[in-house]
Amino acid sequence: MHNCVILPPNSTVMPERLRFHRGALATGCSSAPLERRPPVESRIVSRADFDAVIFDLDGVVTRTASVHARAWKQTFDEFLARRATGDGESHRPFDLETDYAAHVDGKPRYDGVRDFLAARGIELPEGDPSDGPEMETVCGLGSRKNELYNELLEDVGVEVFEDTVSQIRAWRGMGLKTAIVSSSKNCAAVLQIAGLTDLFDVRVDGVELARLGLKGKPAPDMFLKAAELLGVEPGRAVVFEDAVSGIQAGRAGRFGWVIGVDRVGARETLLENGADNVVSDLREVPTRS
Ligand SMILES: [Mg+2]
Repeated sequence: MHNCVILPPNSTVMPERLRFHRGALATGCSSAPLERRPPVESRIVSRADFDAVIFDLDGVVTRTASVHARAWKQTFDEFLARRATGDGESHRPFDLETDYAAHVDGKPRYDGVRDFLAARGIELPEGDPSDGPEMETVCGLGSRKNELYNELLEDVGVEVFEDTVSQIRAWRGMGLKTAIVSSSKNCAAVLQIAGLTDLFDVRVDGVELARLGLKGKPAPDMFLKAAELLGVEPGRAVVFEDAVSGIQAGRAGRFGWVIGVDRVGARETLLENGADNVVSDLREVPTRS
């Protein structure tokens, strides 16, 4: 338990970052029952207040968000470079920060392709998931991205955020249930490579999303499915997310506490999109065992 921030009951003492960056509740979904949630400054991860902690994978548990961003950039830049410019189309190269955060981060693969292309005034035929990486379809570009992602992953391996792993172990030790929720179809493989499979009671990933016909983030479906499988009320679960789409999904699902994880300087963006708090290290999250 040495990695937890232990606070006495009813303490108003908060770590600096939480105190400075606690979220603007007023900017969240107006439909969420905000009045029933404890004030954000008094929230603590404890067995009294919560039954489960739910984590996004890329950027929260593993440092794979940057690998995804690089794979997306190469996919789109190759495509844009060879495409003849049409009316109203922009062929500016993919921006690793702004385009990644706004259009693809956290979303299912084909949604990411479609949303980025739409932002550039480009529409492609949907194609079929069996389309190879050379096909100029939504699915074909998705295949190319996945091919590049797997190549990059082989080169660089899977890097793990140790702050997250140590906190998950501490919270599991307190009796909290755990789930991993990722749009990635590679989620199980990434967890296995990183040796983290046993850290989670439940996994809802891109494979399950397709199998069950769930909507991807920013829809709350994947998080709600994880809560259902864990047997907990969303209001008794904490969501950790680094993507705007994931924060929006957590809020839309009326989860008890939606904590933004900022590894790249996106603190304000996460707060503006409904994060209750933003931390850059999970050991900042107040915990009472
Ligand atoms: Mg993420």
